[in-house]
Amino acid sequence: AKQAGKNRLRFFDPQMQDLLNQRLGLEEDLRIALEEQQLVLYFQPQYDHQPKLIGAEVLVRWQHPTRSLLLPGEFMDSARRAGLTPALDRYVLQHACCQLARWVDQTELASLVVAVNISASLLYQPDFVEYLTQILQQTGANPHQLKLELTESLLLDDMPLAAQRMDELRVLGIRFSIDDFGTGYSSMLYLHRLPLDQLKIDRTFVQSLPNDDNSLAIIRAICALGNSLGLEVLAEGVEKPEQRQTLTEAGCQNFQGYLFGYPLPADRFEQQLIQTQTA
Ligand code: C2E
Ligand code: CA
Ligand code: CA
Ligand code: CA
Repeated sequence: AKQAGKNRLRFFDPQMQDLLNQRLGLEEDLRIALEEQQLVLYFQPQYDHQPKLIGAEVLVRWQHPTRSLLLPGEFMDSARRAGLTPALDRYVLQHACCQLARWVDQTELASLVVAVNISASLLYQPDFVEYLTQILQQTGANPHQLKLELTESLLLDDMPLAAQRMDELRVLGIRFSIDDFGTGYSSMLYLHRLPLDQLKIDRTFVQSLPNDDNSLAIIRAICALGNSLGLEVLAEGVEKPEQRQTLTEAGCQNFQGYLFGYPLPADRFEQQLIQTQTA
């Protein structure tokens, strides 16, 4: 067995070995990052048709001590491999609730709804509801200002359990959004079975606007569906005025994207907001 192991190593591409070492480094570093609070919450604003500020999505970044600011795409895989996704999500939830509580005495931000991305491994943990109840109590955050973004694949893993969890959380006042809507296989299957508030149109559809007829057809269908089920529909990744225009004509009322604002750390998010409101 030892011999086979050796042989396998010989065929190992040195570049692959580098990549592996780098990943192992990140996985170790990530444990420390969670302890030492190196993860930073960025907030990206969401607007309605007026446009009036309606909320913000929390997007995590890692202020690594020796590297540049890392994006989720650069460390989420390491987190998953290290089994740290639930810990990371809990970190983000806790910090988001702290931020909500801090914003309560700022007029512009007092009623802001903050959307947090949740992974399956957290939602399905048996003590998730208890955990979240505790965080809300400890921080004093208002549960009505918390929205959880779930993906289709997550919901389909175990729909009865997902529905049960969501019902329990809904009693607390928490709301739910389906992220990347339209990119999964069986969207129709769960729409009427789950206590949802919002559909988020995936960026891939928005990006090809205004000239892609297929994307437009899909967006129209999502909007019609969402609107007739009484769900809020929000488009992510809106970068151009023509995209916003086309989305509005298709029946989409809410927007998020670089056209409206970049993700920013809390203090800069506040400044930006106060500036645009007094402008
Ligand atoms: P997502 O939930 O689909 O988030 C939207 C992504 O689009 C974010 O990338 C955001 O920065 C980016 N974005 C926003 N507006 C625009 C735009 O106008 N144009 C373009 N090209 N991009 C835009 P980001 O921050 O790199 O996050 C990537 C993914 O990582 C997220 O995709 C989400 O799935 C995951 N993620 C981020 N934060 C967390 C977290 O706290 N927990 C978990 N579990 N996942 C997270
Ligand atoms: Ca999201
Ligand atoms: Ca999304
Ligand atoms: Ca997306």
